[in-house]
Amino acid sequence: MTPSPSEFEREQLRQLLEGRIQLLEGEIDGLTKRRSEPGSQIQYGKRAGDHIAEVTDNLSRARAAEQLSKLAEQARVALDRIEAGRYGSCEACGSAIAKERLEALPWAVRCVACAGKR
Ligand SMILES: [Zn+2]
Repeated sequence: MTPSPSEFEREQLRQLLEGRIQLLEGEIDGLTKRRSEPGSQIQYGKRAGDHIAEVTDNLSRARAAEQLSKLAEQARVALDRIEAGRYGSCEACGSAIAKERLEALPWAVRCVACAGKR
């Protein structure tokens, strides 16, 4: 049996996860926002090399944003599981996720064995 977290622990977890989602969303915002904001003086079409560097930069920013949104999604799933009272059990096999794992990764929704299968 999984010892279910107390109301206090659940509240703490909820705050932790919400904080993490906010943080991640802030970073995603920063990554996806175009840099042509007032104040920045980007000149387009200066040299071909500059343009390529900019495209590559945009691509890696998009990729980083994608990674971050996956992490935010994970935290959201964990949050849902707290609400549903299923926090701490693996979403794939249903067995309890090790306490140490949850302490290190409070947003983990799969046990070590299932996470490794991906
Ligand atoms: Zn599992």
